[in-house]
Amino acid sequence: MSAPTPSNPDSIGPSPGGLIPFDSTAVFIGGAWRPALGGQHLELINPSDGSLLTHIARGQAADIDAAVAAAQAALDDTQEGSWGRLSAAERGRILLRMSERVLVQADELARLEALDVGKPLKQGRADAVALARYLEFYGGAADKVHGHSIPFANGYTAFTLREPHGVTAHIVPWNYPMQIIGRSVGAALAMGNACVLKPAEEACLTALAFAHIAQQAGLPAGALNVVPGLGEEAGAALSAHPGVRHISFTGSVQVGALIQAAAARNAVPVTLELGGKSPQLVFADADLDAALPFLVNAGIQNAGQTCSAASRILVERPVFDEVVTRMAERYRALRVGPALQDPDVGPVISSRQQSLIQGYLDLVKDSGLHVAAQAPLPASLPSTGCYVAPTLVADVASGHRIAQEEIFGPVQAVIAFDTEAEAVRIANGTPYGLVAGVWTRDGSRALRVARRLQCGQVFINNYGAGGGIELPFGGVKHSGHGREKGFEALYGFSVLKTLAIKHD
Ligand code: NAD
Repeated sequence: MSAPTPSNPDSIGPSPGGLIPFDSTAVFIGGAWRPALGGQHLELINPSDGSLLTHIARGQAADIDAAVAAAQAALDDTQEGSWGRLSAAERGRILLRMSERVLVQADELARLEALDVGKPLKQGRADAVALARYLEFYGGAADKVHGHSIPFANGYTAFTLREPHGVTAHIVPWNYPMQIIGRSVGAALAMGNACVLKPAEEACLTALAFAHIAQQAGLPAGALNVVPGLGEEAGAALSAHPGVRHISFTGSVQVGALIQAAAARNAVPVTLELGGKSPQLVFADADLDAALPFLVNAGIQNAGQTCSAASRILVERPVFDEVVTRMAERYRALRVGPALQDPDVGPVISSRQQSLIQGYLDLVKDSGLHVAAQAPLPASLPSTGCYVAPTLVADVASGHRIAQEEIFGPVQAVIAFDTEAEAVRIANGTPYGLVAGVWTRDGSRALRVARRLQCGQVFINNYGAGGGIELPFGGVKHSGHGREKGFEALYGFSVLKTLAIKHD
């Protein structure tokens, strides 16, 4: 955090030196780019080498007030050309145009994400393609959400309408900015809401680039407003704002609780997409050749900083040694490196996150746990980068802290089980319940276990279904509540109104 500072001319902003000419130091409110009202900036650090990437605006309560007012104005359906005046089909067409433009810029968006988040280029490109796909899906769905007619008393005609909430707040984390913006802002816009987006202070560039793309695609002023800033400043002001009618929050359990409390004070609905300690259950009859890539990738993708990371691998005793040995081989072959070199595993987001993960690795050592494998860290890595060696820990007791707490780094715990009942008990035995995977050739068992797992998504003989933007997603327990993705999100981002008409 620093006082007002002009951007480093060698850095990314104001014009990022790339193909998307947004101003990285500005807020985007009511269709205009301008400095934060307080005139202050935050530093954005490149986690691959620790260098200063650029400065971003430090938006505060006054900027949030302006953004909410701009969103409210955009919803005014008496104004020619306003967002609120458009039909559902017209909204959908704009989202489809945004989708096309995101696809055209996928490589550039991946480059920005690599610089900002440390995400390997291939993964960043996949995130951009997912963003485009969300916009395509929700653009196509915008005019296909219907109410119902209700067979009510004689002399009445009754039916329901789906209407927008109004101004929706979107508070997103740094780990998958593009995907999370796509699933929440995309669905909210499709239903006719006007959005105020607060990206994470560690990762703002693709959110700002997205605003530029939306503007170029013809999204009316005020339909999307982006205010970067600190969580406790811009984020807290947004979640407490009385003009906001729905909050979509993705982030940590601790902040989720603050958001829910703020939402309660204004009696507004909130979707909480929080953390996880997701398991993959591997039974002895599983197709291990098919499972192995998923077991490892779901732990190390995005350097383990994935809410649905499979940070626990539960393995039936007869195949335990084989699974550990084969996972360990894959770990030793992982390439760790700077994001722009498109390695298997890039840096983690910050030196703070690096220290947190290192604390867990120290705990592994102090507890005398069995490190089955660690990916090598090349000597050529910049010493100022935020690198962590991907680590596979075997024979972990299910109650151990590394099998209970969300590490949010490339560390997986392998846990043995003897019976199906024990596997389910271990799988359900954390405060979280986001996602689970089940690997078995026994169809009955797969379904029986899936029904018993306490979580929002279960994948059988796969994990993640390739992102599956059509598949409703969300958690139970401390992983949150509400559903995003798929058609289900459109219900969450709208309000049902009932009309009953009395007639002869
Ligand atoms: P975080 O909770 O620290 O921050 C998330 C967002 O909240 C950021 O934009 C931040 O600025 C904002 N924020 C922080 N304090 C705030 C406050 N007092 N009021 C309002 N906003 C505030 O989370 P993080 O460290 O950025 O992200 C990691 C966490 O997110 C992990 O727990 C991860 O599992 C979770 N996550 C969940 C999902 C999901 O879909 N379930 C997806 C990605 C990440």
